[in-house]
Amino acid sequence: MTESEIPKEYNANEVEEKWMEKWNLSMYHFNWGEDTRPQYIIDTPPPYPTGNFHIGNALNWCYIDFVARYKRMRGYNVMFPQGWDCHGLPTEVKVEETHGITKNQVPRAEFRRMCRELTTGNIDKMRKTMLRLGFSVDWSNEFVTMEPSYFVKTQKSFVRMYNSDYIYHEEHPVNWCPRCETAIAFAEVEYETRQTKLNFVHFDKVDIATTRPELMAACVAVAVNPEDERYSQYIGQDITVPLFGQKVALIADEDVEPEFGTGAVMICTFGDKQDVRWWVKYGLPLIKAIDKQGKMTKAAGKYEGMSIAESREAVIADLKATGFLYGQKPLEQNVGLCWRCDTPIEILSEPQWFVKIDSDSILKTADEINWYPEYMKVRLQNWTGTMEWDWCISRQRIFATPIPIWYCKKCGEVMIAEESWLPIDPNEAAPKKTCACGSTEFEPETDVLDTWMDSSMTALHVTGWESEHELRLPAQIRPQGHDIIRTWAFYTILRSLALEGKKPWDSIMINGMVLGPDGHKMSKSLGNVISPEEVTTQYSADAFRQWGAVGGSTGSDVMFRWKDVVSASRFLQKMWSIYRFSMSHLKGFGQEDAEKFPTGSLLIIDRWLLSKLNRLVDTATKELDAYQFDSTFKAIRGFAWEVLADNYLELVKGRLYGDEPEGRRAAQYVLYRTMNTLSLLLAPFIPFFAEEMYSRFSDESVHTHAWPAVDESFINEEAEAAGELIKDITGEVRRYKSDRGMALNAPLKKLEIYNANIDTGDIAGATNSEVELMEGVPSFEYVPVEVKPNMGILGPRFRKDAGTVVKVLKAENPAAVEAQVASGK
Ligand SMILES: [Zn+2]
Ligand SMILES: [Zn+2]
Repeated sequence: MTESEIPKEYNANEVEEKWMEKWNLSMYHFNWGEDTRPQYIIDTPPPYPTGNFHIGNALNWCYIDFVARYKRMRGYNVMFPQGWDCHGLPTEVKVEETHGITKNQVPRAEFRRMCRELTTGNIDKMRKTMLRLGFSVDWSNEFVTMEPSYFVKTQKSFVRMYNSDYIYHEEHPVNWCPRCETAIAFAEVEYETRQTKLNFVHFDKVDIATTRPELMAACVAVAVNPEDERYSQYIGQDITVPLFGQKVALIADEDVEPEFGTGAVMICTFGDKQDVRWWVKYGLPLIKAIDKQGKMTKAAGKYEGMSIAESREAVIADLKATGFLYGQKPLEQNVGLCWRCDTPIEILSEPQWFVKIDSDSILKTADEINWYPEYMKVRLQNWTGTMEWDWCISRQRIFATPIPIWYCKKCGEVMIAEESWLPIDPNEAAPKKTCACGSTEFEPETDVLDTWMDSSMTALHVTGWESEHELRLPAQIRPQGHDIIRTWAFYTILRSLALEGKKPWDSIMINGMVLGPDGHKMSKSLGNVISPEEVTTQYSADAFRQWGAVGGSTGSDVMFRWKDVVSASRFLQKMWSIYRFSMSHLKGFGQEDAEKFPTGSLLIIDRWLLSKLNRLVDTATKELDAYQFDSTFKAIRGFAWEVLADNYLELVKGRLYGDEPEGRRAAQYVLYRTMNTLSLLLAPFIPFFAEEMYSRFSDESVHTHAWPAVDESFINEEAEAAGELIKDITGEVRRYKSDRGMALNAPLKKLEIYNANIDTGDIAGATNSEVELMEGVPSFEYVPVEVKPNMGILGPRFRKDAGTVVKVLKAENPAAVEAQVASGK
């Protein structure tokens, strides 16, 4: 090995592209048939194929990749699969936009084809970004939820859960987005504070206050608090609703707050969740005043056909004109919005499909899972505690997994597909048997499944559920964002329990969000979006990955800062020059020499370094076992930069360039071991750089090599203490020279070291000076060099003149001042 073979500058892009070409990605494949190594299956998030693998994804994938690479090196049979969660509204909306159509203007099958086409193209783009970032994905276990090979499992799970009474069909109030024209789950409702008006309206016996006067059309009762004396005389009587004329009962319920508004509230079907509770509790009638498109129905009388907003205005105008409205005041209200389009949701009663939620078993299972960080479990517990309704899984859309159900036209019975018929789209195929009533005429279910029904199957899918392989549930880890704990994590636990009676994973690792360089959430409108490609083009994938490793810890949000990428890039250059220097001295020293090397001939400073190196391996192993990427990477970086480059290399230069073969050999041995170990420790974090380092040690990939083991025989506290002393002494000498403007390699006449039993060879080499070990007490001559006035004494004594006194003292010759002090003046 000669220095000229290793370029001076590290050209990251060239190196990274080279390895992308060369790597045989089958080294990352999971071995389904193997039982000797323990399995480590990762339930990778399947991103939504938007075509843009954003920086938040990239951070999450960095974490996953660190773990996958580390575990492989630790001897696990690792699966890092990659899925794509294709179905759903955003793709439908995009297709409508690009083709200038609405979903109902083209045949269902044609619309699905357009969605599939868009999705396939988007997946290709995102795959490229993943490869560029060096993620060690196992592409032999890729899955695409829109493919029959995947959604057949979603359908099978539906059939099994239906047959075991986990799934039922019922008319029930659900959250409804009038823009998307579909039911949505509670987990998909987001709340926002909005300004609205509270309207005060005379009813015939009581006054009510409402923010939704248009819902008077659907008023089915008025409620007051039983303790409220203003209204007690009317409880049980009928009340007439103004403008609409229906007579409703005045009921008493302790949930009514007497202090709010007038203390009397309308119960409508449905203004909010509380209305639903009262409606169930008192068995009230159902009036549907709003339809699926958010238009007023016939029940709204003359307001029929108006939008909700138009109708609200018209009703208020009419209430004013007729004198029923007697006041208005502004009110801040928490409004539920559709997570996809921000439209205020309505609660409509519609026949829908539901999955039963058993909160207790979900909470119990959450306790059996290790949470990283632990405090994220509370989010799941809190959410589970608020569950009042079952999970609504039917959607009134097209691009999704079809529900394998038909309805008999004659008797109305539900016909569910048999498992052997799956996958099937009931809109394209008829059932393969007749109804119990003898009829062969069926109506297909046109509703489709919630996308979470697909994605909550990932843990089952990647562990081989319903495949030719034996089921390997639970997976070992689920990495995911904290924003989808109440959806993806919650539903996955539910499904795994329902279908296999087991927890889906041993552990869950939560990553934070990436904030823009300005500290705000990245968004197009703020113009603070950074793409991973920008970083890889300007710097490198390894620099990006380092930012991911040191930017934050699991669970916490991370700010993107270019200066972190710049310093990551600088570390690559620094590490490269350490490597280049070391390799230039390893000419003629290889694996065999290292194995045969008599470690008894190591000098103290060599032992000091090897002790530190083995401690580093120990730390890195423990920290990575706990998914502490930031502290691991910082420890490696600190070792390379401060311990190795700033000290060890300086101390052994004398030996490396000298002509004493034994000492030179010892330094070579240390450099060989250290470079080799560092390339292994760096492999999970900066896989391209580590591979480039390791390529000069072996023809095999560093990523197929085992993680280094701690060699306890090298951990030696005595050697560390002695090494520290040598390091400190040479550090002092260096400071001495630089304080005097001397060149660092300028020889000193002589260095005398008192009362220390240490090797002096390396000190001599590093300081380029003769060194002698001395005993006894050195003779020092003390010379006063500076006057330091004590303000604690001068201040109170001289008050405002203290400043002048200090000035005078400082201007004096220190020796003269000392003489005066000594004489007692
Ligand atoms: Zn919507
Ligand atoms: Zn029938």
